[in-house]
Amino acid sequence: MTQSIYEQLNVKTMVNAWGTVTKVGGSKMAPEVLEAMREASRHYVEISTLHEAAGKRIAALLGVDACCITCGAAAGIAIAAAACMTRGDEAKKLQLPDTAGMPDEALVLKCHRTLYDQALLLSGIKVKEIGTTSFACVEQVEAAVSDRTALFFYASEAEPMRGSIDLSLIIPILKKYKVPVVVDAAAEIPPKSNIRKYLEKGADLVIFSGGKELRGPQSSGLILGNAELVAACDANCCPNYSIGRAMKIDKETIAGIVKAVELFVAKDYDRQVVIWESMTRRISEKLSQIPYAAVREGFPTEPGIQPADILRVYVKPTRKTAPQLYAELLGLDPQIYTGLSGAELVINPQCLEEDEIPVLISAFEKYL
Ligand SMILES: *Cc1c(COP(=O)(O)O)cnc(C)c1O
Repeated sequence: MTQSIYEQLNVKTMVNAWGTVTKVGGSKMAPEVLEAMREASRHYVEISTLHEAAGKRIAALLGVDACCITCGAAAGIAIAAAACMTRGDEAKKLQLPDTAGMPDEALVLKCHRTLYDQALLLSGIKVKEIGTTSFACVEQVEAAVSDRTALFFYASEAEPMRGSIDLSLIIPILKKYKVPVVVDAAAEIPPKSNIRKYLEKGADLVIFSGGKELRGPQSSGLILGNAELVAACDANCCPNYSIGRAMKIDKETIAGIVKAVELFVAKDYDRQVVIWESMTRRISEKLSQIPYAAVREGFPTEPGIQPADILRVYVKPTRKTAPQLYAELLGLDPQIYTGLSGAELVINPQCLEEDEIPVLISAFEKYL
């Protein structure tokens, strides 16, 4: 029997009961997406022409003004920063990450600092923090604006935090000073409506991962919003020369994300939510029958766990600690990958397939 590529490399595969996490490959692409990529691989095309045409297509599908395709949301953060500083100016693009002569400060609420905003710094921009981890107010935002301000960066997953400010309160202040508001919403789908939510509130650019719930190529991302700024993003992207040249987006990925967005737009998420809920119910019923566990269903409440509106199963082992069980499940072949939250393991059906549920259950039966 021929071995799979993973067998040849001696790398275990995984039952993903945690979600669209980059560390384990994000999400799986639909066959139609793979076919679009295969088709794209058969011809040479002018990449900048393709990149722009595909961006237009995606913008039309999503009902937004403009779209720049990137090789991930993190790249999108770096490219958006480059765009806001250079506005597409040829000499300035070539000068980055040296920002002399450009506005080069990104305003960020202190509690919105995440591991992803290192991507901002790649562009050469400097982060200016506002407030403390537990407090910030609009007056502080206004006081932080100066002629050095290039953009305001908002991490949507941090919105519920104590030191945060509602996006709709921040936007009017920044509009007054013509400072672009850039929102990192990489993992904020579902719901589908989040695609336009931030732009409707007045944000200038919003960034999504293409390789999470959009189920496009793992190395894809979207910057959506204001046409002029998106054009400046395009100008900072490969094959043009700027910091984005190091964040190449290939023709196959461009074709794949277009197809993935087509499928996403056509998808009935009300039905998808019912399917996920029924998977959660089935898993929690089965696990409830096993001794040595306290099982409940619920939605995540801690900030940073996205998407928050998919019902999860929480399992508290009573014979061993949660980290112990978590490690044992990861040691199996295939590995069983769940979330770990305090004394509980968390099961999210978002990336699970029906036929993986029995594998998951029997692993719990054996190791709980
Ligand atoms: C996943 C994620 C990113 C990075 O997205 P990639 O597409 O993997 O580059 C950025 N910000 C947040 C909040 C994310 O969840």
